[in-house]
Amino acid sequence: MDRILQEPYAKAKKALKQFPNIGEPGAEKILLFCGVQAGLPLEWGGVRVLTRVGYGRAQKNYGVQYRSVQEALAGELPRDAESLARAHLLLREHGKTLCRNNGPLCHECPAADLCAYANK
Ligand code: SF4
Repeated sequence: MDRILQEPYAKAKKALKQFPNIGEPGAEKILLFCGVQAGLPLEWGGVRVLTRVGYGRAQKNYGVQYRSVQEALAGELPRDAESLARAHLLLREHGKTLCRNNGPLCHECPAADLCAYANK
C-alpha cells in the first residue's frame, strides 16, 4: 500500500483496481481516506442527495448520472483530503437518514431551502 500511495493518482487508482471487488469509486475512496485527494468520490446515497439538490441530472444509467454530478461539482470542491472525506461521510449519512431513496424527510432537512427537489 505504501508503494501504491507513492504513485501518481491515476496509476495508484489503477493499481488498487487490481484487487478483487475494488472498482473506480472504491479505489477513489481508499485514496481519499489515505489523504490523497482528486475530487469527491460518492456512494449512491451521496449521488442521490446531490442530484436532488441540483447537481447533475437523474439518469437511468448510474455511470452517466455519477459523471454528470461530478461535472456539476467541478470547481466547487474543497482542495484538502480531510474536507473531502468529511463531505463524503456527511453525504452518505444524509442519504441514509433524511434524503432516503423513498420518502425523503425534506421537512426535517437543513438543506431544504437550497434544494431543487424540496422547492419543486
Ligand atoms: S430537502 Fe429533501 S430532497 Fe433535498 S436534500 Fe433534503 S431531504 Fe433530500
